Amino acid sequence: MKPNKPWYQVPLAELPKMTGSDVQNGLTQEEAAARRQEYGKNQLAEAKRIPLYVVFMNQFKDFMVGVLVVATILSFFLGEYLDAITIIAIIFINGVLGFIQEAKAEKSLSALKDMAAPMARVIRNGDLDLVPAPLLVPGDIVLFEAGDRVPADVRLVNANRLEMEESALTGESLPVMKTAKVIESEGQVPLGDQKNLAFMGTMVTGGTGKGIVVQTGMSTEIGKIAHLMNQAETLETPLQIKLEQMGKTLVWIALLLTVFVIVAGVWHGQDLMTMFLAGVSLAVAAIPEGLPAIVTVALALGVQRMIKRNAIVRKLPSVETLGCASVICSDKTGTLTENKMTVTHLWHSGKSFDVTGSGYEPNGEIKCQGKVIKATADSGLSQICQIAEKCNNAKLVSGQQRERTMLLLSKNVPTWNVIGDPTEGALLTLAYKALKEGKKQNEPTIRIDELPFDSDRKMMSVVEQAPSGEVELLTKGAVEALLRRSSHIYWQGEIVPLTNAHCSTVAKHTEEMAGGALRVLGFAYKTLKDYTTGEEPSVLETDLVFVGMVGMIDPPRKEIKPAIELCRQAGIKTVMITGDHKITAEAIGRQIGLFQGVNSHVLEGATIDEMTEEELISTVDKVYVYARVSPEHKLRIVKALQSCGHIVAMTGDGVNDAPAIKAADIGIAMGITGTDVTKEAASLVLRDDNFATIVSAVEEGRNIYDNIRKFIRYLLASNVGEILVMFFAMLMGLPLPLLPIQILWVNLVTDGLPAMALGVDPSEGDTMRHKPRNKHENIFGRGLGWKIISRGLLIGLMTLGAFVLAYHENPNDLTHAQTVAFATLVMAQLIHVFDCRSERSVFHRNPFSNKFLVWAVLSSLALMLVVIYWDVMQPIFKTTSLSLRDWALIFVAAGIPTFVAGMGGVLRSSQPKEVYKLN
Ligand code: ADP
Ligand code: MG
Repeated sequence: MKPNKPWYQVPLAELPKMTGSDVQNGLTQEEAAARRQEYGKNQLAEAKRIPLYVVFMNQFKDFMVGVLVVATILSFFLGEYLDAITIIAIIFINGVLGFIQEAKAEKSLSALKDMAAPMARVIRNGDLDLVPAPLLVPGDIVLFEAGDRVPADVRLVNANRLEMEESALTGESLPVMKTAKVIESEGQVPLGDQKNLAFMGTMVTGGTGKGIVVQTGMSTEIGKIAHLMNQAETLETPLQIKLEQMGKTLVWIALLLTVFVIVAGVWHGQDLMTMFLAGVSLAVAAIPEGLPAIVTVALALGVQRMIKRNAIVRKLPSVETLGCASVICSDKTGTLTENKMTVTHLWHSGKSFDVTGSGYEPNGEIKCQGKVIKATADSGLSQICQIAEKCNNAKLVSGQQRERTMLLLSKNVPTWNVIGDPTEGALLTLAYKALKEGKKQNEPTIRIDELPFDSDRKMMSVVEQAPSGEVELLTKGAVEALLRRSSHIYWQGEIVPLTNAHCSTVAKHTEEMAGGALRVLGFAYKTLKDYTTGEEPSVLETDLVFVGMVGMIDPPRKEIKPAIELCRQAGIKTVMITGDHKITAEAIGRQIGLFQGVNSHVLEGATIDEMTEEELISTVDKVYVYARVSPEHKLRIVKALQSCGHIVAMTGDGVNDAPAIKAADIGIAMGITGTDVTKEAASLVLRDDNFATIVSAVEEGRNIYDNIRKFIRYLLASNVGEILVMFFAMLMGLPLPLLPIQILWVNLVTDGLPAMALGVDPSEGDTMRHKPRNKHENIFGRGLGWKIISRGLLIGLMTLGAFVLAYHENPNDLTHAQTVAFATLVMAQLIHVFDCRSERSVFHRNPFSNKFLVWAVLSSLALMLVVIYWDVMQPIFKTTSLSLRDWALIFVAAGIPTFVAGMGGVLRSSQPKEVYKLN
């Protein structure tokens, strides 16, 4: 596909030939597949991934591990072959485990990236299709609307007020108006002036359009300048960064202690090489170098659980922030409600009508005071239905669905669905119900222009031309907005000037419908005498003739009421933000239990406009519903809430919502109705557009954080225990209670597996029963630091105690005493791991409720027994078989730390105390 001139100079008529594509029907699937072979993926080359072997080597680059390797090699030459080989083997296995974890986390996180890849609306085989942007090929026909990210370089064949923001390419941040017209000029036209091309990576800010893909992947304009697009977003969460810093501090502390252990040991007459190896092994064991990796794994696993619950995390740090959310601001339509609309009421000229039927099925009647009315018999009604049908971009499709009947037999029943905006679908259904017989009444007209809906104007218009040449503007939208732009009203068959009396009657009926939780939409039109295309909405949508309005139900989703209740228990406030009428919003709010125990305080966009920042800040805490707001209000609301110290989760779907979503602590985009731009700005995408999914995500977020606390607690307390045994022993001039190999073994087997299992621990059941965590809380806050030190100290002392007792009893058998110490340390940790599962006390949890943990503990136990009893292992690990009496000692010593701590927890939690505090 190489034109003999630049694409912008190719006339529309030549495009099909040059691209081998059909503007109406697009490519066939076969042709698209063939072209994909030829042109490759429509992707910019990514910066090279870190090769796997580097990830593997990185496992060993830790300084202390290096020292250990060197020391081991040294000991090898000093004749300690067995020791050396075992230590190297342990280090190697450790590295492999770390590598597997990291690779797994990396894999699930990159799967996440693919899931968030933008989709393009493409015409293939004559049908509209959603195609992942990387699968586009030259010749594909793509459609654009506001909020789309342009997926490739596209020659436009149709542009309707199509505006693009091209700063990604040209640096110019003002939107450019696009056109389909050919550019004749000879010579090079700068990119910014190639108005009939849409470039990959730029953004549609307004209007609609259609075009043919002419360049993909690295051949696009952006591909030419950005030879490498470095997609390396920061994947580290604040917690990970903090833990890494903490790790560095711990290295120094561990080093100091190690040096002390070595010096003290040598001072007391130990062999230097043995002490050196012991010291270095201790340092390797004590430094939690694997901690950040386990945190990553826990985050990745949590993220996968969220995906199962329909929440896709786009920015990993938000997993942590989710647990801190104190306010969730949610859209109404589609998020709190079903977005399945049915028109049930209609009003014009002082007459009220009821509409029967449900769903989108065009079966039902329009009744006035019980009498069925045909649209042909009522000119106002037929006007409304005409506008409803024509000022509309939705399509109704019928399908079959199998449904159970009463006798448990299943049968096929027809179902009707909307493609497009559900509000418009409901209007089509209404029009079909009214016009069933009078279909020919609706003159076929041609649409010559469209002013798309936007949430600032809150209306949409089309310009239609009748065969007679007459041109009409048909408008629908929010009633107040329409009235403001109307000068006349269609009243009982006549067009009369709009008076204040009319306005108040209309307002009264609007409020009546809204009070019944109906979404109210008004209709207006005007005849255009001399129409020129491309006129601004502010000019066209004036002097309208108001006709009447309809009210449609949009039932709340079933799962919303319990979800809001759950939020309330969890100390999270739910706020509804909607472009809809105040009274409708309030009625829906009541249905979903938004105002439990509070006054229903509703704030309107117009009121926000009049408020200063300070006034808004002092009001937001009382407001539960924001009605008739525009996207820019959302930004002010987010900022005001944040000024009050809230951590704000905010949803949005349209292009203009992006700033608010970015500003929120957790920006949430809609997976179904959301635009590319909002999805890119968001940190969380809801696959099902459902509010309840946000709540699940918050719950998972809290859970992940709780679990991270659990294994940090376990790992660090274990390390403290290990260090202290050695430290106290050297202080007291005792022989080594644990040999280097034993220490490394404990580090590998006893610490690793159970810590991983804690990462997937089920919640304590009260995850959503306490207030959100303070964002600035330290991970060691709420007593965790104390728990680590006290438990570690107890474990260390008990292990030492067991060692001393065994040694005293049998001073000639150091191996026996060391084996006792080894077993005590392992057992104490494996018992303590159950303590780590609860913030309260070990007795609060069923020890068997985490089956991974049970398996991890059992396998660690089994491995310990292998090392102690198997005569092949005994010489390697310098162990000896233990007697039942030994085990009695070991059990008592190992059980004491957790028992003592558990009793303490029981005593403390018998006096109830608010653990969490809102900042
Ligand atoms: P929300 O999504 O919060 O319900 P919207 O911004 O979608 O709010 O709608 C705000 C108002 O704009 C609605 O109450 C309705 O009056 C009007 N409106 C909504 N959708 C359309 C549409 N497709 N065409 C014309 N007007 C609409
Ligand atoms: Mg909407």
